[in-house]
Amino acid sequence: MFGKKSYGCGACGMQFKDREDLLNHAQEIHDKKTTYLCITCDESFENESSFRMHMIRNHKI
Ligand SMILES: [Zn+2]
Ligand SMILES: [Zn+2]
Repeated sequence: MFGKKSYGCGACGMQFKDREDLLNHAQEIHDKKTTYLCITCDESFENESSFRMHMIRNHKI
């Protein structure tokens, strides 16, 4: 259901095939604070303000 989409780390740009891999990477390498991941469309953001902006604009949350 995710097609060919990959997940990019917001902090270092590494690409991951699975969202879980990205989350694990972010936790292990970046101490989990640097990557915010939208669970609705799987976009990632390197800071909370862009993440919140995304949620408001794209998902009206
Ligand atoms: Zn990274
Ligand atoms: Zn989203």
